[in-house]
Amino acid sequence: MAKLIEHTFGVPVEVEPGILRVTLPLPSGPRHVHCYLLRGDDGWTLVDTGLGLMEPSWEEILAQVDGPVVRIFITHMHPDHVGGAEAAVRATGAPVLQGRLDYEQCERVWGSSDWPERIADWFLVHGVPPAVAEELIESGHVFADFVRFAWNPTPVDPGDEVDGWRVVATPGHADGHLCLHRDGVLIAGDTLLAPITPAIGLYPESRPDPLGDYVGSLHAVADLAPRVSYGGHGATIEDPAPRAHAIVAHHGDRLDRTAAALGAEPRNGYDVSHDLFGNALPPIQRRFAVAEALSHLERLVVLGRAHRGEDDRAVTYTAA
Ligand SMILES: [Zn+2]
Repeated sequence: MAKLIEHTFGVPVEVEPGILRVTLPLPSGPRHVHCYLLRGDDGWTLVDTGLGLMEPSWEEILAQVDGPVVRIFITHMHPDHVGGAEAAVRATGAPVLQGRLDYEQCERVWGSSDWPERIADWFLVHGVPPAVAEELIESGHVFADFVRFAWNPTPVDPGDEVDGWRVVATPGHADGHLCLHRDGVLIAGDTLLAPITPAIGLYPESRPDPLGDYVGSLHAVADLAPRVSYGGHGATIEDPAPRAHAIVAHHGDRLDRTAAALGAEPRNGYDVSHDLFGNALPPIQRRFAVAEALSHLERLVVLGRAHRGEDDRAVTYTAA
């Protein structure tokens, strides 16, 4: 189904005529991220920019490419995709195109000084112990300093065309996530991955049902029926529609496990994250586990399979 690939960091590799993949290292998680160069009449469109740390510079990478980068397109505002944007602009002088909603959230999260406190408060409401929340604040401030996104990009919206590529909204992994589609080729960002699946988390000040959004996006991708999908991590996907359906089924199983964790006694997202992901996670990983548990709990509420109870200090869930 999905071909595994070897990664040589910072060396553009032609994956098909007119499309180059540039793989950059990450310090954690999947350990690498893919950016893409799409050939156009006037030059290249660079899709995503890496974390902006560790990698060879964009000057070094682009010296291996014939012709200029004339625009930079961002699929979504997560650090491994947008963190190198400022450096990529410096190397190319090209304008950055970013989704309107995605950039709003990018600026709110990486451009504001109090986001780590706000997200920590929100995690407290969902049952995260104060010591863990405190660690999230510290690491959040350290991290925000490294994410050098490009301020005031050119906004793009779903349905727009970028050098002949159609901009497709695929909310879920990020509310404002965008893909590019042309001639059976999907540049998928983190919407469709193999062999891993993207994290689907609920976060404050964002859309209320990210898992519902994501399942809708997977069906939309399957309906597009692309020939091939190039994602932000992992392998090229030669059969995107079945992979989309498999990820829908994966979340169906996880929804069932989430429902099984609920009963008459109210439980919070932090508690349920232990049922889903075990007890042995460091604070940063726990943050993703809680966000993922919450996206599934909120989906169950929408489906009528769970109830949410809420007061000023706590959000809890019971079986419906
Ligand atoms: Zn990513």
